[in-house]
Amino acid sequence: MDLLETNVKFVRGVGEKRAALFRKLGVTTVRDLLYFFPRRYEDWVNVTPISGLTPGQTACVRATLAYHPSQNRTHGGTVLTRLTLTDGTGLLPVIFFNNRYVLPQLSEETEYLFYGKVEENGEGRLSMASPKFLPAEGNAYFHPVYRQTEGLSSRAVSTVVKTALTLFETALAETLDEEKRKAYRLPDLPEALRRIHFPQDFSEVEQARRRLIYDELLVLQLGLLTRGQRRDGTAVPVPDTALPDFLSRLPFPLTGAQARSVRECLDDMASTRPMRRLLQGDVGSGKTAVAAALIFCAAKAGLQSALMAPTEVLARQHYATFLKFYEGTGVRVALLTGATGAKARRETLEALRAGGIDLLIGTHAVITPDVEFSSLALAVTDEQHRFGVDQRGALSDKGKSPHVLVMSATPIPRTLSLIVYGDLDVSVLDEKPAGRQEIDTFAVDESYRERVYRFVKKQLDAGKQAYVVCPLAQEKDDEDEEEKQTRLNAEKHMKALSADVFAGYTAALLHGKMRPKEKDAVMADFTEGRTQLLICTIVIEVGVDVPNATVIVIENAECFGLAQLHQLRGRVGRSDEKSYCILLSDSKSEAAKERFAVMTSTNDGFLIAKKDLELRGPGDFFGRRQSGLPEMRIADLMTDSRVMYVAQADAKKILEDDPALEKEEHKALAAAVSRLFAEIS
Ligand code: ADP
Ligand code: MG
Repeated sequence: MDLLETNVKFVRGVGEKRAALFRKLGVTTVRDLLYFFPRRYEDWVNVTPISGLTPGQTACVRATLAYHPSQNRTHGGTVLTRLTLTDGTGLLPVIFFNNRYVLPQLSEETEYLFYGKVEENGEGRLSMASPKFLPAEGNAYFHPVYRQTEGLSSRAVSTVVKTALTLFETALAETLDEEKRKAYRLPDLPEALRRIHFPQDFSEVEQARRRLIYDELLVLQLGLLTRGQRRDGTAVPVPDTALPDFLSRLPFPLTGAQARSVRECLDDMASTRPMRRLLQGDVGSGKTAVAAALIFCAAKAGLQSALMAPTEVLARQHYATFLKFYEGTGVRVALLTGATGAKARRETLEALRAGGIDLLIGTHAVITPDVEFSSLALAVTDEQHRFGVDQRGALSDKGKSPHVLVMSATPIPRTLSLIVYGDLDVSVLDEKPAGRQEIDTFAVDESYRERVYRFVKKQLDAGKQAYVVCPLAQEKDDEDEEEKQTRLNAEKHMKALSADVFAGYTAALLHGKMRPKEKDAVMADFTEGRTQLLICTIVIEVGVDVPNATVIVIENAECFGLAQLHQLRGRVGRSDEKSYCILLSDSKSEAAKERFAVMTSTNDGFLIAKKDLELRGPGDFFGRRQSGLPEMRIADLMTDSRVMYVAQADAKKILEDDPALEKEEHKALAAAVSRLFAEIS
């Protein structure tokens, strides 16, 4: 039995009632408690002599009472307790308001530590108001400050942690052997936990942090690597012989970056070691053509591929695009989505099993259990960040060990890609097709609405097309009445726009609730230029590609996150024509304004992702389930990158020697891995 799984309520001084409060802080077991780290520390070690105090400083003073304390009441009824401290260098007045507990705790014989902010009155005299204090004996250490909740103060938490540490120290399973601890100069586990909670000085905090961060990242890497490992096996090599044929049919030459990426992928695919590659490229960089080249080569070698997209609209668009790419080549393409009828579905699945289909394009529908391939050699996931890690796995599980390509427009910093895509090689499309212009972006308020409409009409008159995007009419819990009022009802607004403002133009509505057939017809009309204006919801966020569209107006732009805004903007600027993005918003929110400022200042998806990451933090940025990233207690995935590299290398070494972490000395690590990943599976 693991003693650290003991419920905190059994720790002396806790009990049922406090255990409930601890639960609010996310602490249920003794382990949770020991790993509930302080947010900061108060320095009760480095005392300042009274003569050396400066106004505004938070200081710790070691002193005795100079006189007998006094207590009196003001006209307003406030009880004032006044002390004067002395430490041999000077006198310091201290005052407490309405605190009846002060006097009984003080004696004139004892030396105390007073911790608080130094204030200065009009005449330049210093004092402290309502400092914390404790007897100097036994309290000169760095006092941990914990996250607290009503009824459970930081000091109460600290007392319980102290008790638990003494009681359970021996139950802590050491995960690092002495050799490694020596090599990295890290304290052992009980020592590290003692120091993180009750350090004597900052260097102890630092040592403890180094140890605990390393632990956490090692466990993270072990988990990520073992997860990736399961998909090893022998893949079917795909020859690149058909590539020239594909390229000669393509209506444009590949960009340098596309050509390089195709090369990198085909080199991987020539091997029996399954490719595992991430194709990362900003919106509009031409990821689809890269995938099409690889799939073509596979098909010409008699091998099947699958292409999974996160939305119905995108899957259908891909279907149309690939039919065009492969026209007259004999490559057989099929579409499978949640909207595919029962009969068509049955026929598609049969053909797939019989090898009568070379490429299956679809939504999540392609990973349902009854979908079977005869020879899946290449699994491609588009807009991978929209899928969970498990879904990515589920697609490749459809084959024995197919080559895997995942495509994403969300560029992420190197260190993070090491974590989220730790098992993937990376190809980057860092170049847009020739002739693309910067998209001009404007953030304007309601007073510009008429002008915005006039501008859109001018573009339509010039033969261009446009999007107007409305947020979904969902209400948020934290929204006040006023916000609700200003938020447009998407459907109403859409209808009003097409009937009224854009009455003389061909406009169509597109939203998620429409039937697939309707959506299809609307998209087809827009793609082929039969409608000029698409008034829609976020359904077009990813992937939609209509190069003749040059304006996108985003209503209530404050409702969208940075990544979403950038993706939406990526719907225009897909030809050599000048394109525009207009963010309409009356929001006063600082956060929204900051997002608009980023959008109007750059088109660079990498910078935007970095900013987004800064604003939201890695957890929200990826979404827990999406990324398969567990929550870190102490490591910072952005800043602890050096430790991350070390931990990854060490994790690889450990797994080489013991792939399933079955050896006795790795038991504790294996348990830590399953605990860390339990919360997200
Ligand atoms: P994304 O990377 O966002 O998925 P797409 O693959 O949809 O981008 O490509 C964006 C647009 O650019 C499409 O209309 C596509 O046909 C076009 N395109 C792709 N590659 C090239 C190229 N090398 N030259 C010209 N146009 C290209
Ligand atoms: Mg795309």
